[in-house]
Amino acid sequence: MTNVPELFGSMVFNQKTMKDRLPKETFKALKKTLDNGEPLQLDVANVVAHAMKEWAIENGATHFAHWFQPLTGITAEKHDSFINPQDDGTVIMTFSGKELVKGEPDASSFPNGGHRATFEARGYTVWDPTSYPFIKEHTLCIPTAFCSYTGEALDKKTPLLRSMDALNVQAKRILKLFGKDVSRVATTVGPEQEYFIVDHELWSQRKDLRMTGRTLFGAKPSKGQEMEDQYFAALNPRIVKYMEDLNETLWKYGILSKTEHNEVAPAQHEMAPIFSTTNLSVDQNQLAMEVMKKVAKRHGLECLLHEKPFAGVNGSGKHNNWSMSTNEGENLLEPGKTPESNAQFLLFLTAILKSVDENQDLLRISVASAGNDHRLGANEAPPAIISVYLGDELYKVLEAIKDGKPYANDKSSKMTIGADVLPAIPKDSTDRNRTSPFAFTGNKFEFRSCGSSLSIAGPNTALNSIVAYTLKQYADELEKASDFEQALNALIEREVKEHWRIVFNGNGYDESWKTEAAKRGLMELKTTPDAMAHYMDAKNVELYTSLGVYSKEEMEAHYETKLEKYSQILNIEVNTMIEMIYKDILPAAYSYIDSVSKTVIDLKAVVPGAKAGAQAKVLAKLDALTDELSSKAELLESAHEKAESAGDTMAVARAYVDVVLPLMGEARAVYDEMEGLIGEGYKPFPCYEDLLFRV
Ligand code: ADP
Ligand code: MG
Repeated sequence: MTNVPELFGSMVFNQKTMKDRLPKETFKALKKTLDNGEPLQLDVANVVAHAMKEWAIENGATHFAHWFQPLTGITAEKHDSFINPQDDGTVIMTFSGKELVKGEPDASSFPNGGHRATFEARGYTVWDPTSYPFIKEHTLCIPTAFCSYTGEALDKKTPLLRSMDALNVQAKRILKLFGKDVSRVATTVGPEQEYFIVDHELWSQRKDLRMTGRTLFGAKPSKGQEMEDQYFAALNPRIVKYMEDLNETLWKYGILSKTEHNEVAPAQHEMAPIFSTTNLSVDQNQLAMEVMKKVAKRHGLECLLHEKPFAGVNGSGKHNNWSMSTNEGENLLEPGKTPESNAQFLLFLTAILKSVDENQDLLRISVASAGNDHRLGANEAPPAIISVYLGDELYKVLEAIKDGKPYANDKSSKMTIGADVLPAIPKDSTDRNRTSPFAFTGNKFEFRSCGSSLSIAGPNTALNSIVAYTLKQYADELEKASDFEQALNALIEREVKEHWRIVFNGNGYDESWKTEAAKRGLMELKTTPDAMAHYMDAKNVELYTSLGVYSKEEMEAHYETKLEKYSQILNIEVNTMIEMIYKDILPAAYSYIDSVSKTVIDLKAVVPGAKAGAQAKVLAKLDALTDELSSKAELLESAHEKAESAGDTMAVARAYVDVVLPLMGEARAVYDEMEGLIGEGYKPFPCYEDLLFRV
């Protein structure tokens, strides 16, 4: 048995290690940086770097790397060894404070959305001391933010930290109105990570899985998820071994892996950590995804993080559980027990309603990707329409406020915030609706539209920002009021009324919701290009720039990068598809046709009057289908070419989504029909049944 407490965080230079390894004075100085964001002095950094290096070497490290999160959405690291040559031909191992605090990777090879002209090619990375360094394989990884020399963010971390700061400032203003002087308000996140596990050998035989992360072809297996026998089912022994190894590795990195279970689809699973401060959670989720893939390989398995690896079975998401907490430990989304704390809770809740309602587009944009588009709106994931689920109890409370009526039947006067006690909200009754994209689950909101492979830096930057923006407006209004309680009541009543349309407790998968949502004027942004068309709207530019989360130039860079990436993914998918048609599928069909034709000739030689009817039928069908598939390949080639030269990034993305993607669906349908006709020994690659049921 593993000694978990001993193992936990053993590869992390966490506060305990810092305390053990650093001189008292140094630790005290560093702690100020950790707790209050005070800048780190170079002499302190030097001492920290030395201790960190000694610790890293003892744990097998020879290199260090600034670990950062460029706009690609994955992490990047450039390794440097600790070696330092001496005059006598030997080396010593060194690591300076300067090397710890600042690095200079070449920024020009990372996406910057065409800002190469204004952004200097050289960028630098700076240590984010609030996220702990850790040892991965032989490298000490230092979590950093990545900026250009002119100060623009080139990564996802910097805007995230800025959004956390913005929310901190505004939430503190609100708390002050309630007589609370807190040191810091931080957002917290617990991401529930879904994934698929398939056999490595089978995976390696599919070019689509290897190149694009999803199957571009493949008929539904005879058994899918209809038996509902997979969710929370007992684990298969190979998966058990995988999960044990995964947990141990995650724990070593200080990741609080807590829950593991089978998901709804066959071969689908989930790992959920205990929540932590958002920036740490974002870093750890990036690391967790990397670990999940690596550990799978050790077990002859492959971990698929794509949002929709298989058509016709559920895709994978990442539920982003989000809340706000004070340094003193108060969760601001915990419904209160006294009238005063209720009023505070209701104000934050109202702020979230307004934020989500006014910024449906920003939330949808924050989860938009080629992969996630296959999931959102399909009959499993939250719809592409953003709405808020409150649970029955809270719904009734807000409804009473909105209508100026008493809550429940036992009160005769209208509900007055700050005077009535909010009834206890039973926790489990709040999480019944799995179809809502944004659900209140007792003491946090769960943003369920995030895709499984997505960096959650983006969605959390959006969430923190939209809420900070609203809190700012509320604080501006309430600080001016002569009678706070009265102003508060008026504000909440007004705002709940104004944003009531965003509240939806019904079934988000139901077709009728689309009609209803349209009636309410809610946005349905089906695809990434549809969503991105709103990104640079004046409202959004004003929101992000006024908070200092993004500059307009950074937003433009994001806009370009996101659309470019979208088109690149489709470009790879369509190339892979065409290649598979010519190199895998058609040859397999031909050899089956050839073999069946030969049996007919042989048969007729032996039995002159033989009908060979079954063979003839299959041959005729396959002949027609191969012809159709090769025509589709030609159409794809020309549509693809046209898309490439359609114009600006939006025009290219639109051509992919409007023309290429539907054609890909048509080509797939032709193959899926063929798959059912080709003999088992002739199939071009492992089918769904192999992938989903042979682990
Ligand atoms: P479920 O959604 O399956 O009922 P839980 O309610 O236990 O599960 O929590 C799901 C996730 O939400 C976990 O990662 C948990 O750590 C996280 N979570 C719980 N409280 C908070 C909070 N205050 N802020 C952010 N995440 C939280
Ligand atoms: Mg959940």
